[in-house]
This record gives sequence, C-alpha cells and structure tokens, in this order.
Amino acid sequence: MYIISACLCGVNCKYSGKNNYNEECLKLFKEGKSVLVCPEQLGGLTTPRNPAELTERADNIIKGNGKIITNTGEDVTKKFILGAEETLKIAKIIKANTAILKEGSPSCGRKQVYDGTFSGKKKTGQGITTYLLEKNGIEVISEEDIAQLFK
Ligand code: SF4
Repeated sequence: MYIISACLCGVNCKYSGKNNYNEECLKLFKEGKSVLVCPEQLGGLTTPRNPAELTERADNIIKGNGKIITNTGEDVTKKFILGAEETLKIAKIIKANTAILKEGSPSCGRKQVYDGTFSGKKKTGQGITTYLLEKNGIEVISEEDIAQLFK
C-alpha cells in the first residue's frame, strides 16, 4: 500500500484551494493501492490557507530548533508537526512501505522546499512529513519519480 498526497489525486486541499493532479497517482488510487492524506489538513489547517515555508531544516524544526511561518508571520509549526505525526500513524495502520508525496511542499517535499523567504526560490531539503516518514523507515518518492515504481 502507498500513502499519496491527496492533492496529487485531484483533491482541492492545496493552500490555494486547488490541487496538483497527477494521472499516475490517481491510477494507483483507483486500483485500491493507496490511501490519500493531506498532512496540513490533518494538522488542523484550513483550506484555503496562507502559504508557509520552513525557516530551518526539517530535522532541526522537529527538534524545536526552527519554525514554519506563513507569509503573514503566523507560526504554524505545531500544526505541521501534528499533520506529519498523523500521516505517520496512518502509514503504520495500513502498513505502507512507500509514500508518494508532492515535491516542493513544506510538508510533502522530497528533495526541495521553498527557502523561507517567500520569494519563490527553492533549496535542497525535505518537508516535515517526508522527514518523519523516512525517519520511521517509510520510503518517500515524489510524483516526479513515480516512473520508478513501474519499471
Ligand atoms: Fe498536497 Fe501535501 Fe500540501 Fe496537502 S500538504 S496540499 S497533500 S502537498
């Protein structure tokens, strides 16, 4: 079983109220091979919501050495961490080995996240949920690497 970012299957859970539809992710969902999650909604954030960015690396933020801040200056760190924990709980319940998460997101990013300046620039790094899943032995790939599942 897979965990998949809900926005990749067309669910309008993105901060903007839109989605990041990906045909291959939806196929896996329709085949009954996945459970959809949106960590930010699971953490109690509304949709739509203000965009948020990490001020530090995900591992440091989880340890309390950094924050996740919205573009209006609100500290949403606790909600992001709660959403990551709830996602991990779901992954354990369904015995997921792999998660397919949306690249670039402060929760779901696999290799890249926005750099904390709200200038549209990305940097190397993981989202909070990606970090927590990988730390607990669950493989995370992004939708950009989904082809590797079908080799
Ligand atoms: Fe998609 Fe993840 Fe952002 Fe939710 S938190 S909208 S699943 S990228």
